[in-house]
Formats: sequence, structure tokens, C-alpha cells
Amino acid sequence: MSDQPFSQDKLAGTLEEDQIYKTLLESTLAIPWKIDWATKEYRYVGPQIEKLLGWLPSSWKSVEDWATRMHPEDRERIVDMCVAQSIAGIDHEADYRALTASGDYIWVREVVHVVRDAEDKTESLVGFMFDISERKKQEQELERLRTQLEEYSYQDGLTGIANRRLFNELFHREWLSAIREQRPLSMIMFDIDYFKNYNDHYGHIQGDACLQEVAKILKSSLSRPRDVVARFGGEEFVMILPDTSAESVAELANRILQNIRDAHIEHAQSPIAPHITISMGVKTAVIEPTDDKIKFLHDLDRALYRAKRAGRNCYLSEPT
Ligand code: GH3
Ligand code: MG
Ligand code: MG
Repeated sequence: MSDQPFSQDKLAGTLEEDQIYKTLLESTLAIPWKIDWATKEYRYVGPQIEKLLGWLPSSWKSVEDWATRMHPEDRERIVDMCVAQSIAGIDHEADYRALTASGDYIWVREVVHVVRDAEDKTESLVGFMFDISERKKQEQELERLRTQLEEYSYQDGLTGIANRRLFNELFHREWLSAIREQRPLSMIMFDIDYFKNYNDHYGHIQGDACLQEVAKILKSSLSRPRDVVARFGGEEFVMILPDTSAESVAELANRILQNIRDAHIEHAQSPIAPHITISMGVKTAVIEPTDDKIKFLHDLDRALYRAKRAGRNCYLSEPT
């Protein structure tokens, strides 16, 4: 008898503590819940769920409701993982897109604790659901920036066409395809004539603009999707033309000479024309597995050198 007041105090204390816990649980941004493992029914869902997803707490009856209110692309993977972890008695986390009452999806993270009985069997699951949509948005933005950065690292900063790095990769790929397909691979190496004079006379900024213009002309001279033009370095450019015969590449080279002439980029200090001209080295070959990729580039370079020696503003082919 004597301890009754104490006992009542204790009970009152417990009730007060329960109230504190309940208030705490229901005022956090994380949404608490409990599932009975035997029946797979919800015993509790925090009222905050309604604010986040629009579904009333009372509408969460069993794990079926949980699974159906999940993005179809996430469902199987998430449900399988959670069931397996729960059976194994392992605490786990899962990120997925939860369906809202208005039909949208929100990224959430579940953090789940598996409660086990005296015999170590799974008794219930208690967990918190967090709204991670902002974090996901940031992750997706980061991913977008990363992809863009990757694109930039393959792009020449001045002209916007493929840079040397991308050229190396594409050349390697097309070299292997040419061996496999046994179709002629053609390439053209370009060098602007008397470009040092151009820079000296018009200045480096104008020189840059000229390189941009030439890159644009070269790019627009291409017609097939696999053709590519890259900046090889300084005022040198290179084209990879898969499955292109010697006749076709000769046609293309003439067209490029014409297009450069038509652009009429003034070059007052050129000894050979009043406008910008370019010289080209051309090579076409059916590639054998024993052929040397680097030698192919050297041959192109030699053809270009010969075009320079022959008076510039022309193309010359390296014999195959
Ligand atoms: P050639 O007809 O024999 O090719 O003579 P060239 O004067 O064009 O040859 P050279 O290789 O001596 O000069 C190339 C010039 O290209 C020198 C360099 O200043 C210029 N150059 C290289 N890269 C750039 C660039 O990014 N911007 C500008 N403006 N000039 C560049
Ligand atoms: Mg040069
Ligand atoms: Mg030059």
C-alpha cells in the first residue's frame, strides 16, 4: 500500500514520457512507422505522411499499400531487397520513388530496423521514411554537370569541334572497324597556309576567329554521320572518313578547297592569294591487321608536307 503513490507517479511519469516521445516522433520531418512481421500490417504510421505523400495515415494498412505506392521501376528491386533483409534480420535502407495521392513521385529513403524476438525471429519492422527529393535533385544536377564536363573534355575549347583526345579515341575505333570491315579508310590532314603571317598582321584574336571559321567550314563540308573533323593542334585539323574511297576523298578535298575559297577570309599577307588558303595531305587504304596506325598518320603528314612544297592551296595523296 505504501508504495501506491509512488507507483501512480511512475505511471504518470510513463504516460508523460510516452506523450513526449509521441510529440517528438510526430513533429520530426522523418516519418516513423511500424509493421508487424507476422501479419505484414502497419501498426503505426506517423501523421506527417499525409503532408509528404497526401495519403491518410489510416490508408496504410499493409505492406501491399507500401509496395503499390512505389514507382513500378523501383518496386521489384526494393521489395525483394527489403524482404530478404527483413527475413535475415538485418537493418537496412532503401531509396525509391514513392507515389503521391496526386499521382506524382517523390524520392524517399526508408531506414529500417528489424526487431527480433527472444528466439531471434523477426517480430516487427520499425523505420523512418525521409524525404530525399532535394538531395536527389542535387545528385541529378551533379550528374548532369559531370556529363557536360565529360563532353567539354572531348571538345576543343576554341572551335567547339572534337579535340585531339577525342580524335585519338575515334581514330582507334575507326581503325579497328576498317580492319574488320575491310572497307577503305580515308583521312585528310589540314594546315592553314601562312598562318603565322596572318597572326602577325591581324593579331592573335583575329587569328582565333579565323580558326573558328575554318573549323566551321570543314565541319559543314562533311555529309556522313561517321565522318569527323578534329583540331589536331594549333592551325592543323584532321578528318577521319570511314568507308570512303580515294575518288570520294578527292571529291571532298576539292569541295573543301572551294568552300574555303568561297568564304573569302581576307589574308593580305599571304604570298599566294588575297584570302586564306589551306593545304591538305590525303591518304586512303584498306587496313590490314599488321598495319601501323602511327605510320598512317606519318604518311598523311608527309602528303601534307608535299602539298606545301608543291605551292600550297592544294591537296596531295600519299600512295597507298
Ligand atoms: P605554312 O604555310 O608553312 O603552314 O606556314 P604557317 O605560317 O602557317 O606555319 P607555322 O607552323 O610556322 O605557323 C603556325 C602558326 O599558327 C603559328 C602559331 O602562332 C599559330 N597558331 C597556332 N595555334 C594558334 C591558336 O590557337 N590561335 C592563333 N591565333 N594562332 C595559332
Ligand atoms: Mg602548322
Ligand atoms: Mg600553317
